[in-house]
Amino acid sequence: MKKDLLGLKDLSAESITAILNEAQEMKKIVCQTEKKTKDLAGRTVVNLFYENSTRTRLSFELAAKYMSANAANITASGSSVQKGETLIDTAHTINAMGTDILVMRHSMSGAPHLIAPLVNASVINAGDGMDEHPTQALLDMLTIIEKKGSVKGLKIAIIGDIYHSRVVRSNIYGLTKLGAEVSVGGPSTLIPPEMEKLGVKVFNSVHEAVIDADVVMGLRIQLERQKSGLFPSIREYYRFFGIDEKRLKFAKPDALVMHPGPVNRGVEFSSSVIDGDQSVINEQVTSGVAVRMAVMKILSNGGFNE
Ligand code: ASP
Repeated sequence: MKKDLLGLKDLSAESITAILNEAQEMKKIVCQTEKKTKDLAGRTVVNLFYENSTRTRLSFELAAKYMSANAANITASGSSVQKGETLIDTAHTINAMGTDILVMRHSMSGAPHLIAPLVNASVINAGDGMDEHPTQALLDMLTIIEKKGSVKGLKIAIIGDIYHSRVVRSNIYGLTKLGAEVSVGGPSTLIPPEMEKLGVKVFNSVHEAVIDADVVMGLRIQLERQKSGLFPSIREYYRFFGIDEKRLKFAKPDALVMHPGPVNRGVEFSSSVIDGDQSVINEQVTSGVAVRMAVMKILSNGGFNE
């Protein structure tokens, strides 16, 4: 049994499908007036975030509360991390307080993998550096399944800062395991050479990447992870890679427009595309609560059967 959710790279298609099936049930609870289950009654969930977050942190907290857990948040800026405590010591401290689920976000790729074997709590990776963000990819897949019936055979185009994105890596692992065809597009400086080895098609022009796509997913330009300028300017990025209504027309007419957030309006997408009929960006946020409920329910029942 796997007690943790560290990424989709090492998770089977069966476990991914089990999460998505459970999440469809959880989404009904999120959308009803009375949002309460007893699935995590008496359990404790701690969110340990070393990087900023709006959606991920709040949705883990609400998911825990909707399932009757005790939920608490710690951010690096308000903790003993500021006094020099190591990540391992902080994790041991949180574990020693009776924590059942430790949700972690860290700028270092592999941080949750380091902590998971050292604590009894189930560790959920809520984003580690440029590595993975498994619950984001799961909520993306849930949203696609709800709108399109399945991800199998769909053409998914992911455009933007591929290099720095943990979201794209988790999506590639998850979507290809479930039978989707993934293409990535962006400036060549923002696409690492190993991408093709992950079984995706690589394009340096938006229109080629989005031709006939069923889903067009934009990724944020991650300025905080760029040490040197990998493209001349935001304005130039938008000119060549930003998706407006004209570029969206290369995709299927009913293509979904998705983005993990936070969105830079007028950079990844024009405002008209973000607010347009094809956008399911807010729906993704709702799916995020449901997916996190499903993952925590499965982990609190012993984990993944693999
Ligand atoms: N919220 C996502 C993440 O934490 C995407 C982003 O920040 O661009 O990876």
